[in-house]
Amino acid sequence: MSAASIALEILGAGMVVVEGRGLRAHGNAAAKRLLGLSREAGSEAVLSALREVPELSSLLQSGSGRGELSIASQEGPVPIRRVEARAYCIRRPWPRVLIVLVDVTENAELLERLSNLASKDPLTGLYNRRRFDELGARDIELSRRSGASIGVLMLDIDLFKRVNDDHGHDVGDQALKAVSAACLEGLRSTDILARYGGEEFAVLLPGSGADESVFVAERLRAQVFAASVPCSEGRVSVTISAGAYAAVPNPQDDLSLYLRRADEALYRSKAMGRNRVSYWEPLRPKGSP
Ligand code: GH3
Ligand code: MG
Ligand code: MG
Repeated sequence: MSAASIALEILGAGMVVVEGRGLRAHGNAAAKRLLGLSREAGSEAVLSALREVPELSSLLQSGSGRGELSIASQEGPVPIRRVEARAYCIRRPWPRVLIVLVDVTENAELLERLSNLASKDPLTGLYNRRRFDELGARDIELSRRSGASIGVLMLDIDLFKRVNDDHGHDVGDQALKAVSAACLEGLRSTDILARYGGEEFAVLLPGSGADESVFVAERLRAQVFAASVPCSEGRVSVTISAGAYAAVPNPQDDLSLYLRRADEALYRSKAMGRNRVSYWEPLRPKGSP
């Protein structure tokens, strides 16, 4: 065995050389492992394994390019491996196609974990304020361009300090999770729910006008009202107050305007006795009836 062949065999990346216009294939140990073949698999088996995977088959045909694919694996703890494949056309001294397969499963998982850390609240799994602000700015821009209305809700758990004081912080945490779950149940897949602060949640409702936003907020309020979490005395339930604002964005309107108005409406709900929904109203000029 030459030094080059040994290097090829112990390499972490999978390498397959296809020659004879697709008639013969040589795969190294890593390529055979990724393709689910035994170390002894011959040219025929390597070729048919390549052709069975649509992304690899098309790379083989075009002789260049890159793609990402999922391969079922019997090995290791992860049943589906993410693999990055690149094809290179080598013309001299004779025509061959080199396919390089790199297992990026761990990288993809690490990236996802990092992105979750940056954008999700660890307790509830909901988007955090930072991610909500990014998604909100994007959805408002999309609504502006399409001329559609967009609604924003601010929700705040009522007298939550008392829940912590009376039942302990752990029960408080469970209540936060129960409120998240109850709210998620009442939303569409295009709506965005985030934990905006301690016991405060924000919702984006793309495509919703004023009436629909109030309707959704009322549904969330009722679902939270119906939920409860266990505590040493039995079960404890919480309520939320909500504020809503919706409009087709004007050129100068940004997310902060929507949040501010939804927040003003929320404070009206608190002032009116909590466990209710209010829609934003402009302040009346002094002296008007
Ligand atoms: P209001 O109806 O006016 O909103 O009253 P409130 O008691 O909910 O408001 P306040 O702002 O006085 O208290 C908020 C409480 O939320 C205090 C804080 O301890 C609690 N809180 C915030 N984040 C968490 C958390 O992650 N876990 C738990 N258990 N409690 C939290
Ligand atoms: Mg609050
Ligand atoms: Mg509160």
